Amino acid sequence: MAADQPTVLVVEDEAAQREVLTYNLEAEGFRVTRAENGEEALVLIDEESPDIIVLDWMLPNVSGIEVCRQIKTRPETRSVPIIMLSARSEEVDRVRGLETGADDYVVKPYSVIELMARVRAQLRRARPAAAGLRLEYEDIVLDSETHRVTRNSKALKLGPTEFRLLTTFMEKPGRVWSREQLLDRVWGRDIYVDTRTVDVHIGRLRKALCQHGGNDPLRTVRGAGYALG
Ligand code: CA
Repeated sequence: MAADQPTVLVVEDEAAQREVLTYNLEAEGFRVTRAENGEEALVLIDEESPDIIVLDWMLPNVSGIEVCRQIKTRPETRSVPIIMLSARSEEVDRVRGLETGADDYVVKPYSVIELMARVRAQLRRARPAAAGLRLEYEDIVLDSETHRVTRNSKALKLGPTEFRLLTTFMEKPGRVWSREQLLDRVWGRDIYVDTRTVDVHIGRLRKALCQHGGNDPLRTVRGAGYALG
């Protein structure tokens, strides 16, 4: 499985619903991580850094609305798209869901095909490279389909790890990534790699980005990690 496979967090208390969602999302090529309740969801969002969240409104204890509100209040998680699922079809509920910060709202019983289309649409916005789009940052252009990178219109030679690192940075310019988050995203969670390896590849990426001159666009954030710009 590709390390940069998008991760979907499914938050649903009913096991059968959770299974259906997981089955269909995995069939679409996503990595799925699951929570049975709101508390678990809030822990998993920090541990797994999902790219998108499918969140049921009706959950025991902490409701989906409250989970959504908390995720959208925190700067670290605010940009993660949330698709809210609800059996409540009333217009007022839909509005309430979207006002809490949900990016989309789907009424149960939903069509799986429609839900998958909505997941992909949200993901295109949040993770353009995973959707095969072109990314630009200042004079750097990355084509995720052809795996070509140019800077100031000159082709750059990049190793596969450096390419994935750059993709991660270019999807969210300005975001600070910790070494652990970069390991998860670029190397994958199942592989044991020392965090110092990240530093080595960051060094290579910096060199590659400056191979035809230009300034170093990567910033080391002391005690936190790395950011682009
Ligand atoms: Ca439920």
